Amino acid sequence: MNRLELIQAMPKAELHVHIEGTFEPELMFAIAQRNEIAIPYQSVEEVRQAYNFHNLQSFLDIYYAGANVLIHEQDFYDLAWAYFEKCAEDNVVHTEMFFDPQTHTDRGIAFETVLNGLQRACDDAAEKLGITSHLIMCFLRHLSEAAAFETLEQALPYKDQIIGVGLDSSEVGHPPSKFEYVFAKAREAGFLIVAHAGEEGPAEYVWEALDLLKVNRIDHGVRSEEDPALMQRLIAEKMPLTVCPLSNLKLCVVDDMQQHNIRRLLQQGVHVTVNSDDPSYFGGYMNDNFIAIAEALDLSNDELKQLAINSFEASFISEADKANWISKIKVLV
Ligand SMILES: [Zn+2]
Repeated sequence: MNRLELIQAMPKAELHVHIEGTFEPELMFAIAQRNEIAIPYQSVEEVRQAYNFHNLQSFLDIYYAGANVLIHEQDFYDLAWAYFEKCAEDNVVHTEMFFDPQTHTDRGIAFETVLNGLQRACDDAAEKLGITSHLIMCFLRHLSEAAAFETLEQALPYKDQIIGVGLDSSEVGHPPSKFEYVFAKAREAGFLIVAHAGEEGPAEYVWEALDLLKVNRIDHGVRSEEDPALMQRLIAEKMPLTVCPLSNLKLCVVDDMQQHNIRRLLQQGVHVTVNSDDPSYFGGYMNDNFIAIAEALDLSNDELKQLAINSFEASFISEADKANWISKIKVLV
C-alpha cells in the first residue's frame, strides 16, 4: 500500500477539532440566510478571501464573526453533521470535539441549545455513520476566570454529555495559571482535562498546564521542544500532544511544513497525534493534514501507522475499543 492509500485506509481518531472551526463558507451563508442575519460578505468567495489571515488573533476575529449566525439547535446540528460527513470521507471513526459555550451564551444563546444540537448530531453520527464521539467544553482564555466558573456551573447539569473541559482562544498573555481554580473545580466534578499550550505561547505554559491544570492531554504543545527538561517529562509520562500541522502552517507557528517538528517529536518518543484544529479555516481535514506531513517530512508507513495508533491510545475511549482500532491499523501493510 502506498502512503496515500494507507492514510485513507487507516481508521483514525480526531482529538483536536473545534466544531465552530469546521464552519464552511457555504453552510455559513445558508444558515445566515435562513436566520436572516446580515454578514459583511456578498458571496461565499468573499468569505473565503476573508479567511486570509496571518496569526491567531486575526483568525479568531473572523471565527467569532462566523459563529454569530448560529442561533437555533438545528444550526448546531447542521454544523456538527457537516463535520461528521467529512470524518466519514477521511475514515475518522472517533472524534473528541471541542465546543466553545461562551462564544454562544455571550450572544444570548442558551447553553442547552448548543449542547442539544451537537448531541443530536453525535447520536446520529453513531447510528448512521458508525462514528463515535465525545464532547469537550472549552473556556475562552481571553475572558476571565470568573466567566469560566459561570460556564462550568451551566455545564454541571449536563455532566453526562460532556467528557472533558479544555482551554482555547488567544494563548499569549493568557497562561494556564489564570484558570487554575476553575480547572480544580472541573476536576473535582469529574471532568477530564485538556488545554491548549505551547502553540504560540512558550514552553512555560505547557509546564503550567501539566502542574497547575493537571491535564490529561496537551493541545498543540509543539514549542515543548524548546525545553529539554519538559521533553523528558512528556516522554516519561507518555503525555499526548494533539498536533495540528496545517493550523501551525497557516498561523505561521512554522514557516514551511518541511520545518515542522512532528516527525522529530515522534522519533524522540513524544506521544504525538495528528489533528485538523479548525479545518474550514486552515486548509484541510484529517487526511489533508496527514498527506501534508507525509509528503513534506517523507514519513514512512510505519510512522504514519504510529501516528494513527497514538490517536486511539490518547483518546478517552475504553481500553477494549482502543485495542480493537489499533489491531485494525497494525494489519495494514
Ligand atoms: Zn485548537
